[in-house]
Amino acid sequence: MDSARTHSTSPSDDVRTTGPTGRALATEAVHAGRDDLAALGLHAPPIDLSTTYPSYDSRGEAARIDAFATTGADPDGPPVYGRLGNPTVARFETALARLEGTEAAVAFASGMAALSAVLLVRASAGLRHVVAVRPLYGCSDHLLTAGLLGSEVTWTDPAGIADALRPDTGLVLVESPANPTLAEVDLRAVAHACGSVPLLVDNTFATPVLQRPAGHGARLVLHSATKYLGGHGDVLAGVVACDEELAGRLRQVRFATGGVLHPLAGYLLLRGLSTLPVRVRAASANAAVLVERLAADPRVARVHYPRIGGAMVSFEVHGDPHEVIGRVRLITPAVSLGSVDTLIQHPASISHRIVDADDRRGAGVGDRLLRLSVGLEDVDDLWADLDRALGERTAGASSSREALVRAD
Ligand SMILES: *Cc1c(COP(=O)(O)O)cnc(C)c1O
Repeated sequence: MDSARTHSTSPSDDVRTTGPTGRALATEAVHAGRDDLAALGLHAPPIDLSTTYPSYDSRGEAARIDAFATTGADPDGPPVYGRLGNPTVARFETALARLEGTEAAVAFASGMAALSAVLLVRASAGLRHVVAVRPLYGCSDHLLTAGLLGSEVTWTDPAGIADALRPDTGLVLVESPANPTLAEVDLRAVAHACGSVPLLVDNTFATPVLQRPAGHGARLVLHSATKYLGGHGDVLAGVVACDEELAGRLRQVRFATGGVLHPLAGYLLLRGLSTLPVRVRAASANAAVLVERLAADPRVARVHYPRIGGAMVSFEVHGDPHEVIGRVRLITPAVSLGSVDTLIQHPASISHRIVDADDRRGAGVGDRLLRLSVGLEDVDDLWADLDRALGERTAGASSSREALVRAD
């Protein structure tokens, strides 16, 4: 792995960081976005399904639309129309911003809709060039490589970022830990290399429980909220945490292009956030046990696990990875991640299939790599399933502690 990739921080630094309210992360997870509920006489947040908002004051509505067109700030009072904003979704946005330590957050219909909006914001400022570090989630790679939104990408390693910047560079994009190899970048060093160009960190794998990139200099923090933030495999969503200026531009793009989040999804995400720290820590403890057992197993060639920890594990098998997928019974053989149940998938066949095979292998996504999203089941039950799925223990395969590759 690239030697420039090192861990950015110890996880305990971030877990203990308190937000602008002076409260700890675990407290914010339960209370942020709900501060007004007791005064409303409510315990659970209300779900506002309105697509439109009646008003007898059309002069006032015109002023609110003009203000939104100028700043992109959330309208004062009712949002006029559902594409400008939604009070239930706004609760989730408030909560996520507090967890990531940013001024604002803007939610979208999916992680890809969120990334698309960021690219459109930068392109509309005439800054179409993107510098990015592989590996990225397969569809993020595809969106950039195919230039679907008119962007042009330069792929580099973290040490090459400063040299790759051009006058028209609008964004630097990294994932850490990266999907699916769990490679990490030194966020502080990367942010420094970006200079005045905004750095976007896809924080989907780490979640704000393990890492808060804004504190290390990232101007934009992106999540596929479909994964850990929702946490139960029943919501498709994306969100960008950032400063209020960029949030305004993102809301304007969301209004104009329509990738809004449904209010029910906003409710489920807010509910998911309240258990995020507990879920991430419990799943990470399971993952650490499985990492030890996989690394000691002769059927496993390499195990990838990031220094900051977490519940994602990747490993390369000596045998046929398709056979392993076919043999799991308790573990769910499915793409996606971050759910309460454990999922396994073969990146070269599914999550990263859309990436050109040479680019994929060049980014460290080998054909024998399997990606495991560890859930909340009993760890011995998980190991029993994995052990059986790995198949016969053949003689001759090497087993040593060196099989564990920290993602650096
Ligand atoms: C899944 C994923 C995405 C895309 O999110 P969707 O919600 O599926 O659109 C982006 N980045 C990472 C790291 C992901 O795992």
